[in-house]
Amino acid sequence: MNQISIWWIRRDMRLEDNQALKAALEAGEFVVPVFILDPALLNSPKTGEKRLAFLYEGLRELDVSLRQRGSYLVLRQGPALEELAKLRNELGFNQIFAERDFSPYARKRDSAIGDALPLTLVDGLTIHHPDMPLKADNTPYSVFTPFKRRWLELPLAEANSLLTAPLNIPTPSGIESLEVPKRPSLPDSVPFPPGEVEAHRRLSKFIQAETTGSIYQYGEQRNRLDLPGTSRLSPYLRFGMLSARQAVTAAIKARSAAEDKDLRLGPDTWLSELIWREFYISILFHYPEVLKRSFRPAFNHINWRNKESDFIAWCDGQTGYPVIDAAMRQLSQTGWMHNRARMLVASFLVKDLLVDWRWGERWFMQHLIDGDPAANNGGWQWTAGTGTDAAPYFRIFNPSLQGKKFDPNGQYVRSWLPELQRVTDRYIHEPWKMDLSVQQESGCIIGQHYPHPIVDHRVARQATLDAFAQAREEYDQGK
Ligand code: FAD
Repeated sequence: MNQISIWWIRRDMRLEDNQALKAALEAGEFVVPVFILDPALLNSPKTGEKRLAFLYEGLRELDVSLRQRGSYLVLRQGPALEELAKLRNELGFNQIFAERDFSPYARKRDSAIGDALPLTLVDGLTIHHPDMPLKADNTPYSVFTPFKRRWLELPLAEANSLLTAPLNIPTPSGIESLEVPKRPSLPDSVPFPPGEVEAHRRLSKFIQAETTGSIYQYGEQRNRLDLPGTSRLSPYLRFGMLSARQAVTAAIKARSAAEDKDLRLGPDTWLSELIWREFYISILFHYPEVLKRSFRPAFNHINWRNKESDFIAWCDGQTGYPVIDAAMRQLSQTGWMHNRARMLVASFLVKDLLVDWRWGERWFMQHLIDGDPAANNGGWQWTAGTGTDAAPYFRIFNPSLQGKKFDPNGQYVRSWLPELQRVTDRYIHEPWKMDLSVQQESGCIIGQHYPHPIVDHRVARQATLDAFAQAREEYDQGK
């Protein structure tokens, strides 16, 4: 009988540099590419419509690429174990190959499947398995800088080890498949066309020295909200339309092409961000409890204010702080937000509104196309001051000053807040300071066209410092 392998696609929606696909091709005469729509994920309150739409369009793209290679996508829906067992009955396959995933949900699922079916997990989601960069005493790192140092000491992917896409994928014909659902569909306001081709287009543009917003300017421009200073590759890395090896290899190549220290700053900083990605994957792998609790137990019992109306104003981009509102509206319209903006809105929710960081974490997961449990939890706990290697709780961003610094002419704010279109640079980050005649001149009456600030930053800051200090004190006393 012919050998059949299943290539079980999860977060590796690509044909290039795919180690699971390679293993499946080597093991079987035939390979069946399978994606399973898992109800546990489809129905999770954390699964947002835009991310789902990005996945669906990505699956259609992948199917087109597979058909160009004599294959096609087999789509099934149901609990993964049941669906794979059914496929085994239908096809009598020999082995399932899948890229190893490290989230608590994926590990539990894969362990159950591995007990029942022949499943081989293959590397690819990260450069290094989270068990590789360990401290000398074999315990995991919880501070980024030593993690990064160790990570860099381990052997890195070489450019020539990147795998090319197979020219031909032999798949038996006639295997039943569902159609990829048409809804939800990706709104036109989302500037992320799914797929491997688009991921490569973005990466190539980003590493070209002569392009504005390229990797060589990343060191200086990555924090600017008004410039296209970052790669905008996160949705593609999230779904594996680009592999970690492809991204890291590109950073290393760009670094070696740089003539001096100044030019190397960009690629070095970008590589660091890719290592942050692996750091948070490693944190979630070793400390799965962070999805429920603070990494720092001292901050498990903060006396949150959790005022529903504050949370709604934050979600809707109606807090009266322009940089916060612009970022929140960018998120709801595009499914993406700049990293600096993520830090600012997270800080505002937690430290100005005293709302539990988990509320914000959930909202982000519902709206981000790149929503990823490890990076999102890491980012929220970092900003809240409750996480690993986090910003200290007493570091509280001032939204007006941050706006002035990272969006100096208010271009970012104006692009998302039409009501502030005609407000001058002087007031763009503090429109409440305009007197009535200036408000009239700019066509923006505060309280009518744009809200008054929902909190006074100075007062809110003090309340947060008190709440965090109290939590720590009570924790120390209870120890
Ligand atoms: P670039 O600056 O070009 O960076 C390249 C890649 O490195 C990114 O695509 C991403 O994969 C990775 N990366 C960069 N910064 C980080 C970081 N701090 N942590 C982990 N990985 C990083 N990133 C997600 O991918 N998914 C999330 O759900 C997510 N939630 C976040 C929540 C908060 C509160 C914060 C502060 C950050 C979050 N991030 C998340 C990290 C970061 O904001 C995004 O990865 C980045 O903005 C994506 O834009 P880019 O692709 O242009 O990044």
